[in-house]
Amino acid sequence: MSAADQDAAPVVLRGGTVHDPATGRARVTDVRLEGGVIATGDAQPGDRVIDVTGRIVSPGLVDLHTHIFAGQDLGVDADGVAFPSGTTTMIDTGSAGAHLIGAFRASTLERSTVGIRAFLNIATIGATSILLGGELRAPWYVSEEEAVAAIDAHRDFVVGVKVRASADVGGEHALPALAAARRVADRVGLPLMVHLGPPPVGVDEIADSLREGDILTHAFTGWPGNAVVDDDGRTRPSVARARQRGVLLDIGHGASGFSLEVARRMLAAGQPPDTISTDLHAYSSKTVGDLPQVMSRFLALGMPLGDVLRCTTVTPARAVGLAVGELTPGSRADVTVLELVDADVEYADGFGATIRASRELRAVQTFLGGQQVYERGSA
Ligand SMILES: [Zn+2]
Repeated sequence: MSAADQDAAPVVLRGGTVHDPATGRARVTDVRLEGGVIATGDAQPGDRVIDVTGRIVSPGLVDLHTHIFAGQDLGVDADGVAFPSGTTTMIDTGSAGAHLIGAFRASTLERSTVGIRAFLNIATIGATSILLGGELRAPWYVSEEEAVAAIDAHRDFVVGVKVRASADVGGEHALPALAAARRVADRVGLPLMVHLGPPPVGVDEIADSLREGDILTHAFTGWPGNAVVDDDGRTRPSVARARQRGVLLDIGHGASGFSLEVARRMLAAGQPPDTISTDLHAYSSKTVGDLPQVMSRFLALGMPLGDVLRCTTVTPARAVGLAVGELTPGSRADVTVLELVDADVEYADGFGATIRASRELRAVQTFLGGQQVYERGSA
């Protein structure tokens, strides 16, 4: 905790509906932020009291799939994107590999306020220039030794290994890269995140390679032949088995990482996602919008608000070993005030489908370590 956190005047968020997904509880109560943590007890003289009646008080949102490498072609501005969307922690998923993770640290981690962690791309060059094809096409850029050394050097913020194991990214080299990433994740004892794209590699091969705590991202993508659910609404056995082992299904909406039809089938099959994330980057932001808009898609699909909030707070936090995403007294005061407003909006999924929604989640206030970093309507 920084000195600034300690100095922040205590804040009382009064009268909102407080959702703490870690406990599953939702109730109208006050939340007091003092000394950078969630406090117990009533408001004190001198506290700054903010009336949030009718609003949702949630742990700060955790976006498990983003691209925020400042200066890279993919990268969006971390603080600029995070705070207006109620996000207090962003996980960069493989923008940087072993040869660029130091640059990521210098340009992004050390120059941002938002909480940042990163998955290391198994390709040393990272996921740069996605418009030119994939980082796995030149197999000599995949180095297990370089990856392990980079993770050892940056273990304070590297939380896992990422591989974009699909035909468009790696051609014939995608499957060996998946195997290399698997070995590195095992050697360093961190989760493996694999993206699901067009075959090959097939979804069964990927699902069978994942272990407890690993993450399948773009899990609800709609690439023909690689969906996690079949046309009759049956979850693929390999995916069902993976979930039973404790593999997490992450949304990673992106430009082509999410199909509304697949989502409908999975929700109908009683298979909601574990985590809801944006895959925000320079080329996806038009399709995605922001994290509350991705959450709003799931509300429109009928998923309960409490479940949606769990998928964007405590579950992604725990997936990467972070003690955020909850409102337990004593935990870090990363808090978001959201509003569910009446709206008539249409969301696209990147596969040509749209869904109309009558309600949209919007961030109103964002607090990071007890300090207010966003207020809607103020520049
Ligand atoms: Zn991505």
